[in-house]
Formats: sequence, C-alpha cells, structure tokens
Amino acid sequence: MVNYKDLGLVNTREMFKRAVAGGYAIPAFNFNTMEQMQAIVMAAVETKSPVIMQVSKGARNYANASILRFMAEGAVAYAKELGCEHPEIVLHLDHGDSFELCKDCIDMGFSSVMIDGSHLPYEENIALAKKVVDYAHQYDVTVEAELGVLAGVEDEVSAAESHYTKPEEVIDFATRTGCDSLAISIGTSHGAHKFTPEQCTLVNGVLVPPPLAFDILAEIEKKLPGFPIVLHGSSSVPMDEVNTINQYGGKLEAAIGIPEEQLRKAAKSAVCKINIDSDSRLAMTAAIRKHLAEHPGDFDPRQYLKPARENMKKMYIHKIVNVLGSDGKLAQC
Ligand SMILES: [Zn+2]
Repeated sequence: MVNYKDLGLVNTREMFKRAVAGGYAIPAFNFNTMEQMQAIVMAAVETKSPVIMQVSKGARNYANASILRFMAEGAVAYAKELGCEHPEIVLHLDHGDSFELCKDCIDMGFSSVMIDGSHLPYEENIALAKKVVDYAHQYDVTVEAELGVLAGVEDEVSAAESHYTKPEEVIDFATRTGCDSLAISIGTSHGAHKFTPEQCTLVNGVLVPPPLAFDILAEIEKKLPGFPIVLHGSSSVPMDEVNTINQYGGKLEAAIGIPEEQLRKAAKSAVCKINIDSDSRLAMTAAIRKHLAEHPGDFDPRQYLKPARENMKKMYIHKIVNVLGSDGKLAQC
C-alpha cells in the first residue's frame, strides 16, 4: 500500500474549491505514453497550472498499471526539475467501473478516482459510489461520481445515446454518496466523432454542433451551490489537426468536437474539471504523420516523437491559457 502523499501528489479538494471560487477549470488530460506525460508536465509548469493526469482502464491495460503509477511519481520529480517547487499534480483514475479497480488504484498511490456507475439503475449507482467513497476517504483520496449518460466511444466506455443529468436527482445523489465531485451530462460526448453532420448546423462552411445544455447546468448549480462539477468528453477536435492528418494520408471523416467558446463559458461556472483526451491523440498523430511524410528516411522514434511531444505541449498550453483559465493558479509557485 502506497499513499499518494508520499509520492508528492495531491487530491482534488483544495484545487476544486479554488477553481469554483475563481471561475476557472482544472485541465484533466489523459495519458498513456511517456511523451504525453512529459508534454503535460511541461505545459503545466510553463503556465504555473495545477493539473490532473488521468489514466483510464484502457491505459492501464496498454501501458501497465505499475508503470503508469511510477510515471506519475516521475512527473512530480520532473516538474520540480523544470523549476516548479510546489507542483499540484493529481493522479486520477478515469472511468473506474468497479470497486475493486478503484481500490487497486487507491492502494497503489492514486490521489483521486472516478467511479462510473452512470449506466446502472439510480440506487445501484449510489450504492457503488458510496462504497468507493467510504474506502477512498479513509486515505483522503477524492472521488468523482457520474449521474447522467454521455454518448460516444472512449476506450471501454461507450453509449449510443446521451441522457442528460436530471437536476432533481443531484442533491440526493451527492448527499447519499458523499462524492467530492460530480460528472454530469449536458451534451458533451466521448471521442473525436461527437456528433453526426445531421445534428449540426452549417455556419460559414463549418459544422457547428448543438450547444451544451447550460440551462441544466444552471439548475444543477442552484441545487448544489459551489459543488465541483466535471465535464467529460470535452475535446474540441481542432480542424487544423484533423486536416493535417488527412493531408498526410489519414482518413478522419466528420470529426466534430465541442466549440472552445462553450467550454470557456462552462469553465466560468461550477464546472471545475474539464476532460480532454481526443485532442491530444489528434495533436500527436498529426505531428507524426506530417514528420514521416516529410522525412521518409527517418526511422528513429525520437525523430517523430519529439515533434509529436512539442505539438501536444502547444495544445495543452493553449487549453490551459485560452480555454480553462487555470494558468498562474498554483497555490505556491
Ligand atoms: Zn469520460
């Protein structure tokens, strides 16, 4: 059993409190590889932002659970080497689907876990979330639970249709589970294909998806004033990265994300954690495709992973500064 505090990690409690009060959101970036981890740390240090590094069940299967945990420990050391004396890095489990998985992560040093029982009947979702909260809080690990269902596909999580969170359920859910933050469904969606072209309107040649349900978010905020709210599936799927991928041999059709203005608006509310995964995948793939097309003789992975890492770092900095507003928000620099 390892406690996250011994690894230099922090839980989400204080940073969420400050983010809700300050009208900004903390970035939650998924990682599977060393280059993603390095880019996340470099971006967080350069912008003096708290950051949530999150690991999905799929990432644990891909990279190995122990390796990811040691990478997070390395991330703290790396941030300090880069000149940040008091980094605020959370290691978070994204979409934990069982008590056992959450417990395993807590026992190996995660500072935060999500238990996603959103596909279960309401009472079962509460019972599962409460069981995880009861265990996690013994070690001061924070817990995110989810109410409402997001559409889309991401690793092992998939749903054909979204079901918006019902504001009338949130007080009961938050009180009875004791969760520290609540992921809600208000129209965001997992993956790089969040909407079909038929769901969008064509504005100046660009497909604009339906707006997020800010009325539902406002109702939830009214019921749970100051309670930390989380948005999943919040990549914006930048068209320049999609175009680069397609220009250099890729075939991504009808990739549509959440417009950044919508996320900026959400970040100013009680939404204090915004999950971004697909945009990092796109930034990495675009840079690798471009590099290999322009340098067909290269075969040293460092030659194409270096520009990939640079491109992801640029994207992370852009999100922190221009979308979430968490730059300069470390408690101590
Ligand atoms: Zn998610």
